[in-house]
Amino acid sequence: MPELPEVHTISSDLNQHISGFTITDVKVLGTYKVLPDQHAFFSGLKDQKILEVKRIAKNIVVLLDNEKALHIHLAMTGQVFVRDPKEKVPNWTRVVLRLSKNGASKIIYLTDMRMFGKIGVMDQKGLENLKNKYGPEPLDNITPSDFLQRLQQKNTSVKNALLEQSLVSGLGNIYATDALFMAGIHPETPTKKLTLQTATKLLESSREILLEGIKHRGSTLDDKMYVDIFGKEGTHQKHFRIYGKSKCPNCGGDVEFKKIGGRGTYFCPVCQTVGEQSALF
Ligand SMILES: [Zn+2]
Repeated sequence: MPELPEVHTISSDLNQHISGFTITDVKVLGTYKVLPDQHAFFSGLKDQKILEVKRIAKNIVVLLDNEKALHIHLAMTGQVFVRDPKEKVPNWTRVVLRLSKNGASKIIYLTDMRMFGKIGVMDQKGLENLKNKYGPEPLDNITPSDFLQRLQQKNTSVKNALLEQSLVSGLGNIYATDALFMAGIHPETPTKKLTLQTATKLLESSREILLEGIKHRGSTLDDKMYVDIFGKEGTHQKHFRIYGKSKCPNCGGDVEFKKIGGRGTYFCPVCQTVGEQSALF
């Protein structure tokens, strides 16, 4: 599932490559569901100029000149491609948007193998509601004490709290796993046992790993589900710290793998000891 660095790469590339284009044609293939319904989807998009493409947490938001927005959430298997009209139609295409600017044409393909993604047209109110669903991101101007306070709103493990997008948004399973390793924090540390010092470290490592992920244009795993709008893979998978590893890069010991909150978590029992004591008592 694409996380912040992947969605960031897609939305900033889209912003660079489709802003200023007008949507001249809209097609929905098969039974793919668009929101709020097909009629509103077509009339909201057709003949609208694309002003800007932004990201709200893991959502891609294409702002249009009718003050509406095309909203895309890729979920598990969604992908966005921008291609020349002569290029071939990608597999699993569900929605096709034809664009034009000064005689030049481009096509956006939204593909979704398993169809868990969400695509729709939203008004300003919808955008506001979407923003309100998410807590601030580590990359926002959030202080360590605010970060700590937010994580402590839920009485759970720090790993689970990091994935809870209403508390802090943007960290998914891979980047949360690596951020905890970098901060030396045991993923099962209860949030109530976190200290300001630990939270400061965790905020710093979260920022570092997200920025690095963005620099590497995201992570492409073996399933190849994440690629950029040109079909190119990210390279951050070559820089994972502990995610997917069997030996700890720090001490050389065996990495433990455990499902926490249903998500596969890798950690080093030797190097990630902060909070471990408190986890036992
Ligand atoms: Zn280690």
